[in-house]
Amino acid sequence: MKDWSILPWQNTQWEQMVHCQQSDNLAHAYLLKGVPGTGKLQFAKALAAYLLCLNPRGSGACGHCKECELLKAGTHPDFTLLEPDDPGRPIRIDSIRKLNDFAHKTAQQGGRRVIILSPAEAMNVNAANALLKCLEEPGDDTIFLLVSARSGDMLPTIRSRCQQLNFSTPVREVAEQWLSTQLDDPAMVNQLLDLTVNSPLEAKRFADQGLLEKREALADGLKGLFKGKVTPVELAKNWQSSDLALTLSWIIGWLDDAVKLGLNADASVLRNRDQLKMLEYISRKSDARALLQERDWLMSQRQSLLEGGNLNPQMLMEGTFCRSLDLVLA
Ligand SMILES: [Zn+2]
Repeated sequence: MKDWSILPWQNTQWEQMVHCQQSDNLAHAYLLKGVPGTGKLQFAKALAAYLLCLNPRGSGACGHCKECELLKAGTHPDFTLLEPDDPGRPIRIDSIRKLNDFAHKTAQQGGRRVIILSPAEAMNVNAANALLKCLEEPGDDTIFLLVSARSGDMLPTIRSRCQQLNFSTPVREVAEQWLSTQLDDPAMVNQLLDLTVNSPLEAKRFADQGLLEKREALADGLKGLFKGKVTPVELAKNWQSSDLALTLSWIIGWLDDAVKLGLNADASVLRNRDQLKMLEYISRKSDARALLQERDWLMSQRQSLLEGGNLNPQMLMEGTFCRSLDLVLA
């Protein structure tokens, strides 16, 4: 049950849930919250398996009873994992309405039913109100597991109906140990964890999706821009179809580090030490106030992307690169 077991840094939350189950003290809704990349969804799946399993053990679902087999096959009639149809887009309201019907049917396997929503903040107000209705009138023996890295964006009335489970990043040693077993090239472990601020699953995603290389290409693009080898419009063409929120977050991280350098911070505290030369250049050419203003602007653009705002990708990236160039020309 590899996909249905917890990660090495989740024992505290796990023991808490096992205790609730064993003392027959389960709430009907839990909110699993905390920074991205800590494995909240995997924990939710492990918990769902445990709650549905016919022979659960303290360590998790047995892995071979009828319920476990159904789960592994993806055909368990009393389990639903609801995610947006397209990553980064909201969960649709009709999906939530179907969920409400599901929550009120009798469990087909005779036990409980478990519903996971991830990410639980990814819905518009109407969908959120439909979910609230589900939570206010839960079916018998139905357990909701809401997963969110941005729980502050959820309706407070939804949050308040859930018991909260907090997830944070593991200590470095545990993160390193786990990540090194997941990568073909363990030499990358340290750089990946530095870049993702110790978020092991986020680090693995970086490796799996070749994001280190993309980030390197973005840095090269900026350097070319500063040297006048490429114009903002040309560079924007290469980046308009990228994961824009992620692309902006890389530039935000570089500006953060450039600000620190401007305040005479030691290079060892930087998150992006691999780009030290570029960061020193930006820091030399621009003052902290301008860098912070630019960072705030990028943060607000990124926020609006995450909220599903309809930004024109080419215009956004052109604006971003024009402003980056202004920083060093000023
Ligand atoms: Zn089982």
